[in-house]
Amino acid sequence: MNEKQVHEKEPNLNEKIHAAIWCPTTSVLNPYEMTIAAARSCAASGVHIYTSTPVTAIQKTDDGFIVKSNDREFKAKIVVNAAGVFASDVSAMLYKPDFKITARKGEEYLLDRAKKGIVKSVIFPCPNAVTKGTLVIPTVDGTVMVGPTAEALDNYTDKSTTTEGCAKVFSMAKELVPSINMFDVISAFAGLRPAIVENGNDFIIRESSVEGFVECVGIQSPGLTASPAIGEYTVDIIKKICEKKGMKFEDCLVDARIYGLDSRREEYKTVAIKDYDKLTADIQNEIIIKDCKYYREKLKKLIKPILIFVGFGLSYLLYYLSLESCNDGEGACSTYISWIKLKVIEEIISCILLTIMIQTIIFKIIPYIS
Ligand SMILES: Cc1cc2nc3c(=O)[nH]c(=O)nc-3n(C[C@H](O)[C@H](O)[C@H](O)COP(=O)(O)OP(=O)(O)OC[C@H]3O[C@@H](n4cnc5c(N)ncnc54)[C@H](O)[C@@H]3O)c2cc1C
Repeated sequence: MNEKQVHEKEPNLNEKIHAAIWCPTTSVLNPYEMTIAAARSCAASGVHIYTSTPVTAIQKTDDGFIVKSNDREFKAKIVVNAAGVFASDVSAMLYKPDFKITARKGEEYLLDRAKKGIVKSVIFPCPNAVTKGTLVIPTVDGTVMVGPTAEALDNYTDKSTTTEGCAKVFSMAKELVPSINMFDVISAFAGLRPAIVENGNDFIIRESSVEGFVECVGIQSPGLTASPAIGEYTVDIIKKICEKKGMKFEDCLVDARIYGLDSRREEYKTVAIKDYDKLTADIQNEIIIKDCKYYREKLKKLIKPILIFVGFGLSYLLYYLSLESCNDGEGACSTYISWIKLKVIEEIISCILLTIMIQTIIFKIIPYIS
């Protein structure tokens, strides 16, 4: 766009700007909502999401992996490492990684809604080799966001905003939109981009040297924009691994579906019940907490033989006691014995009825009430 077009479109831009490139496909989204939407979509497909469950160790087994987290263990045929700045630490749980993650901090500053409309589109400066630069962004919520910075750190935890960062962001933003003022800031935050400097800041998406261990690492900006494509690319890698192992893609995912227990989808219910016994005790207990039908299944298996045993034991005892009382008396025992036989049949029938009644109370009535 020439100077006239630029200033007609964005009247608040610095008058020193003489030309610009118009990119109509540039868009803004709310990254939190996008992440939550992706998580919801996964949950609806039967994936179970464990929060506050950091991976602390990974062990290679004959048919896959055991992923450990504090007091839990997960069995997996394929593992994907997408741990952001901690990705090399996670890979190091299995092998000596051939990449190093540098955390590149970015500080962002959110301006009051009073500044809504100061720009109508996302304003980018000219990018450099490391970053796309400090932007002025009209957010989907009606505020304006300025930032980010790009500062390489020697740690993976520093998400502080700083006076220097703020000064840098506003001096650069003012170059684009001079009326922007740091007194309009209502919130500030920082994030860490996981960059691999040694390979020119490129993403690494591959099956690592450990069979079945996939890495999506060094996903720095624009990782969010690229995430749907990264997802598809990763699925292709997983499909190839399944082929190599002679497994169907669906079979690689069966564990995820078992954990999912999505009551809206009938096939997950059957998969879950069918495979319940194969799960570890930990996961079985977790599933029981989520859905009491597994508790009933477990109880049924445990109590049915006991009830039958007790029922027949009781019948035999009654039969034996009746015989004893016959022997005690003198004479007329043969008619008495046929009477006892009838009595025993009656006892057996009543024991069976009692068993059915107890089962009904335990498996149908109590769960219904609770
Ligand atoms: C300030 C800033 C501005 C950005 N702007 C843009 C932009 O405009 N456009 C764009 O496309 N991208 C942008 N990005 C980049 C984008 O945010 C990243 O590319 C993307 O978040 C990387 O995704 P990731 O899943 O690889 O890592 P992350 O988003 O960092 O996720 C890694 C996850 O792994 C978890 N984790 C770590 N260790 C463990 C462990 N041991 N066990 C279990 N879980 C673990 C972490 O808790 C985290 O939830 C920006 C980034 C920043 C910081």
